[in-house]
Amino acid sequence: MLTRLFRAHGLLVASHPWEVIVGTVTLTICMMSMNMFTGNDQICGWNFDCPKTEEQILSSDIIILTITRCIAIVYIYFQFQNLKQLGSKYILGIAGLFTIFSSFVFSTVVIHFLDKELTGLNEALPFFLLLIDLSKACALAKFALSSSSQDEVRDNIARGMAILGPTFTLDALVECLVIGVGTMSGVRQLEIMCCFGCMSVLANYFVFMTFFPACVSLVLELSRESQEGHPIWQLSHFSRVMEEEDNKPNPVTQRVKIIMSLGLVMVHAHSRWIAEPLAINTTVGIPQVGMELDPLSPRRIEPEKPLWHFYLTRIITMDIEQVICLALALLLAVKYIFFEQVEMESTLSLKNPITMSTPTLSLRRPSATCCRQETPTPKSLSFAPANVMTTPTPGHKEERDEVIRPVTAVAADNQLKSFFVMGEEEKEVHSETTQPSLPQQPRGLNDCVAILNNPELGPRFLSDDEVMLLVNFKHIPAYKLEAVMERPERGVAIRRQMISAKLPSSSALSSLPYTDYDYSKVIGTCCENVIGYMPIPVGVAGPLNLDGKEFQVPMATTEGCLVASTNRGCRAIALGGGVSSRILADSMTRGPIVRLPSACQAAEVKNWLESTDGFQTIKEAFDSTSRFARLQKLLVGLAGRNLYIRFHSKTGDAMGMNMISKGAEQALSRLQQHFPELQVVAVSGNYCTDKKPAAINWIEGRGKSAVCEAIIPAKVVREVLKTTTAALVELNIHKNLVGSAMAGSIGGFNAHAANLVAAIYIACGQDPAQSVSSSNCITLMEPSGSTGEDLYISCTMPSIELGTVGGGTNLPPQQACLQMLGVQGASQDCPGENARQLARVVCATVLAGELSLMAALAAGHLVKSHMAHNRSKVNLQDSPGTCTTKAS
Ligand code: NAP
Repeated sequence: MLTRLFRAHGLLVASHPWEVIVGTVTLTICMMSMNMFTGNDQICGWNFDCPKTEEQILSSDIIILTITRCIAIVYIYFQFQNLKQLGSKYILGIAGLFTIFSSFVFSTVVIHFLDKELTGLNEALPFFLLLIDLSKACALAKFALSSSSQDEVRDNIARGMAILGPTFTLDALVECLVIGVGTMSGVRQLEIMCCFGCMSVLANYFVFMTFFPACVSLVLELSRESQEGHPIWQLSHFSRVMEEEDNKPNPVTQRVKIIMSLGLVMVHAHSRWIAEPLAINTTVGIPQVGMELDPLSPRRIEPEKPLWHFYLTRIITMDIEQVICLALALLLAVKYIFFEQVEMESTLSLKNPITMSTPTLSLRRPSATCCRQETPTPKSLSFAPANVMTTPTPGHKEERDEVIRPVTAVAADNQLKSFFVMGEEEKEVHSETTQPSLPQQPRGLNDCVAILNNPELGPRFLSDDEVMLLVNFKHIPAYKLEAVMERPERGVAIRRQMISAKLPSSSALSSLPYTDYDYSKVIGTCCENVIGYMPIPVGVAGPLNLDGKEFQVPMATTEGCLVASTNRGCRAIALGGGVSSRILADSMTRGPIVRLPSACQAAEVKNWLESTDGFQTIKEAFDSTSRFARLQKLLVGLAGRNLYIRFHSKTGDAMGMNMISKGAEQALSRLQQHFPELQVVAVSGNYCTDKKPAAINWIEGRGKSAVCEAIIPAKVVREVLKTTTAALVELNIHKNLVGSAMAGSIGGFNAHAANLVAAIYIACGQDPAQSVSSSNCITLMEPSGSTGEDLYISCTMPSIELGTVGGGTNLPPQQACLQMLGVQGASQDCPGENARQLARVVCATVLAGELSLMAALAAGHLVKSHMAHNRSKVNLQDSPGTCTTKAS
């Protein structure tokens, strides 16, 4: 019951952080101003003469006071350090300090309202600072920091409140009652101090229960990644999820506290209401009219100078002990700000019993929403990582969250590190770790299993043969090798060894490289069962003069002549003044198939989908799945009782197949709610159509539809292309138009658009299989100019399927090629603009390629140049099948 109450409270506070923070700050400011302007203010030396206090200060031991102040400052410094270990150097600490400050203001105001004087409070303040315990803040913050999404932050704060709230409440109660004993002492000054102390504890408790969790929630909300994938405010690292058991208070302590507080309540009740009902009035009572004024009370005087002047003078004329305290505070502040890095959570785990103990943690992969993993210290890397069951992957992270096997915090750091470090950095880190000596002969299976599962050891302490043994006996799934190994590259190497044994030639893989590659970008996104990577030569064609800008186009190909030919086309275009392009449409498609009991019902569904209401309902469901996918239209085909629904959607800078599949699935489940008898056969019904030749893409378009055109002057046609406009125009009609029609081509009214599309796609990380539809192109040529000797050429490509984020575009070499074109990643100005620009480049490069190849064909140069630049010399000479003069 109590737990549920605290949980509900925590959830409420964490869900409305702005309201709570603004409310608390406003209230504090109001209280401060009331305090200053209601006339209740008593400032010794300015508007009040406090002779007794001054006397007291002089008589009191200044050294003890100074030491106490210094201890308080050092104490606060250590409190800050505790919070810093959570990853937040300032924010949480400042929130904690504000909590203290506001509780001080609250208490002061309340004491003023009770008309109690606060003389001598200055001297007592350091003692109050020692009452502050920011470890509570740590404990609560740790709950929040273990979250991977904002919703989880709220839930975890609520969970933290449910667990920690009752303890805090009891602590506050006990503190209050203990300090409250002082209010019965009969010593006036002590009574006032204790009264203030009680108020402070209570105010501190209330502010801590409201303001601090709200701050934590807000801080984590701000640390979420922005749409572009950059964190707004990045926590250095996140704490691990703690077991609730760890945080549950010790029941024995709890019981002692409860009994103690009950006893104290009885003492208070007895002394105040039974034994001495009038004691309160006489000891801390308000001076009554006609009563003789207490000689210790301060006397109001007329201020001689303005308040600011008064404080300035006091600052300038500081006492020696004040100088000492200030110097210490400044020293620690400078040390904290400039000379201290955020420490690792593991350090805190060792210091703070809350996070120690059990290593059975449910560790989440670092997700985009909240936190980032930091590079662990080399020291922590000296331990081997434990088994890895998950890999960090960009995109759709929430779908791939997995719970992994128990690991220690240190091992978890290592494991994540092994995925995040790249290239040289990775080498450096591993060279720092000492490789354990491994036995020549594999140890027994059970020993190997034990080492693998031991979080202190792990796969680094196993030889390759032992790992293979574990794979053969299914203790390590073969497909998870790179994820389980301490380094993905070792997993790849072991898989190669295992595969090599089964190949016709055991050295078959020796020329397939696998080292020095960042597999972290591949795992879970681009490829499985990795055995290496395929280096493909990348050439450059350009400058391509497109829409007034120059592009150097990267092309990955093994077809000799292709890049050279495209380069010639680019030169001809540039000499002619460049190529102009337009994007005609931008819409990716997915065409699922659904079935209904009858054709008539299928027709009803079709009508509904084509109605405004129907479309809006489906659009709402579809659009909810992505920040970028926006449903544009539905094209519904019907065959008997089968319905084929072609979803057309914008996809930002992504090619969008995953994105749109997700949207379509959501839309179909909404459709099923309206038509329960509808059965979804498959999310793809080939009506999309993806990676297969289809007229629908040619006619309706898919991805980006683009057109580009250029005029090539007669002189350039003659001198660069070595042909004439008339020959080109005639060849284009007979080959690209009539020839393709004779072949029954769909979208293939071009010379070799696929060549350019495939080469750019491979270089730029596109899905190469999508060169099928993306190569749909009609090339048109006409005589132009006053004499008709200039050449007008256009290429129209209705279905260019590409993107600049997602898939292979996340790989660094592919990103380098996209960067060559200035289109890598998401467009900052307008989502989708980078992808559209890439489509224009593809279309214009196709035009350059068409121009050059057609010219070569018209001039009869094609075979000659391919023989010179494309025929394999090596094979001609060395192939055993050829009749060379070999000794027989
Ligand atoms: P994706 O990586 O699956 O999705 C793109 C991700 O990038 C989304 O999470 C999107 O956010 C995010 N994003 C960030 N900024 C963006 C921006 N400016 N524009 C667009 N998205 C942005 O990529 P995809 O293009 O949908 O899928 C590509 C992959 O699908 C390729 O690997 C390809 O080979 C493969 N593929 C899949 C199928 C299939 O049937 N599923 C078919 C062919 C190819 P949101 O989460 O907000 O959307």
